[in-house]
Amino acid sequence: MTTVLITGGAGFIGSNFVDYIDRHHPEYQIMVLDALTYAGSMDNLPYGMRELDNPRMRFWYGDVVNAELVDTLVNEADYVVHFAAETHVTRSIFDNRLFFQTDVLGTHTVANAVLKAGGRVKRFIHISTSEVYGTAEAPLIDEEHALKPMSPYASAKCGADRLVYSYWATYKLPATIIRPFNNFGPRQHLEKVIPRFITSVFLDEPLTVHGSGGAARDFVYVEDVCRAIDMTLHADGALVDGEVFNVGTGEDRTIASIANDLTALIGTPTTRIENTGDRPGQVIRHTADYDKIRRTLGWEPKVSWQEGLRRTIDWYRTNEDWWRRQLWMRHIPIVTAAGRREYH
Ligand code: NAD
Repeated sequence: MTTVLITGGAGFIGSNFVDYIDRHHPEYQIMVLDALTYAGSMDNLPYGMRELDNPRMRFWYGDVVNAELVDTLVNEADYVVHFAAETHVTRSIFDNRLFFQTDVLGTHTVANAVLKAGGRVKRFIHISTSEVYGTAEAPLIDEEHALKPMSPYASAKCGADRLVYSYWATYKLPATIIRPFNNFGPRQHLEKVIPRFITSVFLDEPLTVHGSGGAARDFVYVEDVCRAIDMTLHADGALVDGEVFNVGTGEDRTIASIANDLTALIGTPTTRIENTGDRPGQVIRHTADYDKIRRTLGWEPKVSWQEGLRRTIDWYRTNEDWWRRQLWMRHIPIVTAAGRREYH
């Protein structure tokens, strides 16, 4: 049986990827390794993950920096997709040590395990992020764009990204690096902007926007990202080994315009937008050039912005129990360069 090891599978994108593999490759065995931090939950996973003798799904509660555990799991895997990370930019301003531990050393542990497993693993996909680029120096960011990470999160992910590249260059690991732009969709933590806005509208609270809300991002629907990862997983090694692929839509939206779109879609007449201080290390603009993955694998985004928003809103509308537990984590106290404490 083909086995896919998914680290960080109990988080947002990881759990959507578990669903994707479950639906599209019912013959595969899925193993999830997740430390169930505040960002991960068994509730995000199919019920089968809780069954001890399920032949198709196995869940391992554990830390991705635990080399013994990771070695054992990787030794049973044909494919490894590595999502596990600390992921919230603002949290990385507040308390960043764990970001370097999990994101850099965790990736080191997984990469070493793939290396030790010899030729066992057919493909190792490292999920990086577009945040490694920093603010766009051209209208569209391609994979050759300079890496100028602007936050501790981005720099940790940048270290992990280059670590994986170096393992390909040095040891010829069958590794591919995916750099998704901003994802949105079901099961995203309330600390991230779209779920925070959606639930604020539901609760009839003001939508708080950093600075003027002019920071622009490329938002791609999570299922499109899962499809890109799946296509990469099954591609010919000659096309993808040692390669980096952006995954985005080529369109950017300002945070203020997202607040307006959501207000128009679900807002009550009293929905208000409020501005807080700018986030330190804010990336100003960020738009994907996804031509490389389009040319190489034929991937293109399929879910439009409006359709993705509608699906996301529906999910939060019907899963209030899930998100109510996270309400208290929506804002994080950070100290700005001017020494002011602000909630972001
Ligand atoms: P998330 O925060 O929702 O989930 C992260 C998961 O990793 C959680 O289940 C958590 O429990 C697990 N985890 C954290 N530390 C761990 C550890 N030490 N050992 C094992 N598991 C651990 O994150 P996400 O938004 O789903 O992002 C997944 C990946 O995609 C990350 O690598 C992130 O950098 C990358 N990414 C995310 C986005 C986005 O917009 N969400 C965009 C680009 C790239």
